[in-house]
Amino acid sequence: MYEITSFYIDGTWQKADATADIIDIINPASAEIIGSIALGNAHDVDHAVSAAKAVFQTFGQTSREARLEWLEQILDHYKARYEDFVKAITMEMGAPITLSREAQAYSGIEHLEATIKALKNFDLVQPRAGYSLRYEPVGVCGLITPWNWPINQIACKVAPAIAAGCTMVLKPSEFAPLSAQLFAEIIDETDLPKGVFNMIYGDGPNVGAALSQHPDIDMVSFTGSTKAGIAVAKAAARTVKRVSQELGGKSPIILTEGVDLETVIPDCVWLCMENTGQSCNAGTRLIVPAHLHDQITEIAKRVAESYVVGDPQDENMQIGPLANRGQYEKVKAILEQAEAEGLKPVTGGSRPVKNCEEGYFIQPTIFAGLRNDQLIAKEEIFGPVLAILPYETLEQAIEIANDTPYGLSAYVYTPDDSLAAQLVTQLRAGMVHVNGAPLSPDAPFGGYKKSGNGREWGIHGVHEFLEIKAVMK
Ligand code: NAD
Repeated sequence: MYEITSFYIDGTWQKADATADIIDIINPASAEIIGSIALGNAHDVDHAVSAAKAVFQTFGQTSREARLEWLEQILDHYKARYEDFVKAITMEMGAPITLSREAQAYSGIEHLEATIKALKNFDLVQPRAGYSLRYEPVGVCGLITPWNWPINQIACKVAPAIAAGCTMVLKPSEFAPLSAQLFAEIIDETDLPKGVFNMIYGDGPNVGAALSQHPDIDMVSFTGSTKAGIAVAKAAARTVKRVSQELGGKSPIILTEGVDLETVIPDCVWLCMENTGQSCNAGTRLIVPAHLHDQITEIAKRVAESYVVGDPQDENMQIGPLANRGQYEKVKAILEQAEAEGLKPVTGGSRPVKNCEEGYFIQPTIFAGLRNDQLIAKEEIFGPVLAILPYETLEQAIEIANDTPYGLSAYVYTPDDSLAAQLVTQLRAGMVHVNGAPLSPDAPFGGYKKSGNGREWGIHGVHEFLEIKAVMK
């Protein structure tokens, strides 16, 4: 059993208050209690913020070389405990172990390496004609992260914050404390000065809100739902702190004529189903030429039914459980509502997954022939649920793709380069992938519209934590 009762403040593990709320850590694959964590409060936040504020006086003045050295140390320690991260992520949020090993835990290495590379190539002082620019740390930062890619989010905030010379208080998701605990442990093994990195477990309304409104926090970097992102921004407004938001999505995949369907459709379905559909940038709306709709639906159904669903500890498993009971109940309720409104899934649906009745499992589910104003096509479901929508003209495809409050990612599959260029220009999204091109840890990650206003990863992530000072002389 895991028993987490301390917070990492000012370089030491400090016991939570005796009256702290305690919540269970639950293995989503079995719904069994595997431990507990103590949740912090506003007093703990004050304590951590004052440690971060005190050390900022000196840490904010450190050289690029010193910060690079600390980042390298974190990277080395991270690599040394790599397999621990893999296991922790699968245990806490149910990612299939192969996905944890190849992508979830690996993202920690990618972000540390990308940040190191970015900082090496970035001059913090840049002479210009008649003036110079100094890039300085924003100050004390509050970092609030979700459970779906837990280490990805922690690493892509902590690494650039250190690179910029900021000090910080991290509040990881209360549903994914195990990998966060490991991350704090590896930081503790490095020479990073005490108080630069602090971590408090807690929920949104208490610790998250206390960070957002704290007068001594200069910036909040938030990743999570659009609803919570708005709450953070409102709470932060009074202190005029910088708020960087990485929020939800309902990303379109546009398919044009002429693609090899047997090759492309499996990729498209996986864009939705990977990580059991719990990725902010998941491609959840497959927009297809109307005359190919039935053929595409047939292939997509076959692909979804071929996935192995079950125990995420099993190396062969492709689809694990949803990460927690709340998420499971949300997805199940949406499926039940759609079914009650007369929508019949092509495959999957709300009924329990055979031999997986104990955990938070939902079958890979596809609804076809949808209009964009229907629930399944509109809502960010955050589960393994794909919507297929037919279009008659390319203009209509673009209209459907952009008809969403979100604008995180968009995916385009076409053999025609000029058509691809036209689609790239017209899609209102922070990231567009053409013909299956993957993400790059150096490229900016972030969205348009209600998907947020931030850009993370690589040098773009470092800029989030920097102020610019113009020096005229
Ligand atoms: P969530 O919004 O419920 O929680 C995210 C974090 O915010 C948690 O640490 C939570 O405790 C905290 N929080 C909740 N309410 C808060 C409040 N009022 N004030 C301050 N903090 C608060 O999201 P989740 O369910 O953990 O994660 C799923 C969501 O995250 C999805 O909407 C997904 O699209 C989004 N997400 C976005 C990105 C991105 O980069 N755009 C990446 C991953 C996840």
